[in-house]
Amino acid sequence: HFKKTMHTIEETNMFGQRLAGLLQPGDLITMEGDLGAGKTTLTKAIGAGLGVTRTINSPTFTIIKEYEGRLPLYHMDVYRLENSDEDIGFEEYFSGEGVTIVEWAQFIDDYLPKDRLELTLKHDGEARTITLQPVGERYEKLCKELTK
Ligand code: ADP
Ligand code: MG
Repeated sequence: HFKKTMHTIEETNMFGQRLAGLLQPGDLITMEGDLGAGKTTLTKAIGAGLGVTRTINSPTFTIIKEYEGRLPLYHMDVYRLENSDEDIGFEEYFSGEGVTIVEWAQFIDDYLPKDRLELTLKHDGEARTITLQPVGERYEKLCKELTK
């Protein structure tokens, strides 16, 4: 795995935009980390990098929101599914033409494809540490590019 520390929001924004530049149709990014760890902030940066022009807000209540961009973005926050095994049609998103980002991904582990880029976010004051764990060949390649 790889670790990256971002000391400011600007650094988080730059990292998200760089990551976005490497994304392809069908990619999946999972995010784990406490409330306030920076999952939504990083998603906004990735969205900007994907060319999303609409404002990206946390889909806490709707669970999923779709945005148009260079690639579509499917942004999920599955926090509310913690103690449920409800399938809200995940598979259609994972097999779609867009990029899927899942906040609190551990709560829908049973529905997630094995291959994915797993991000774990931690906060410490203003700093944010992101651990990147690529699962599968596609994401190993992506991480090598990203950490070049
Ligand atoms: P989560 O989605 O994980 O609950 P949010 O992205 O909604 O977290 O909230 C992160 C908060 O931390 C935001 O208010 C953001 O402005 C703040 N923040 C401070 N420093 C950073 C940083 N370096 N990277 C990302 N967010 C930061
Ligand atoms: Mg969030």
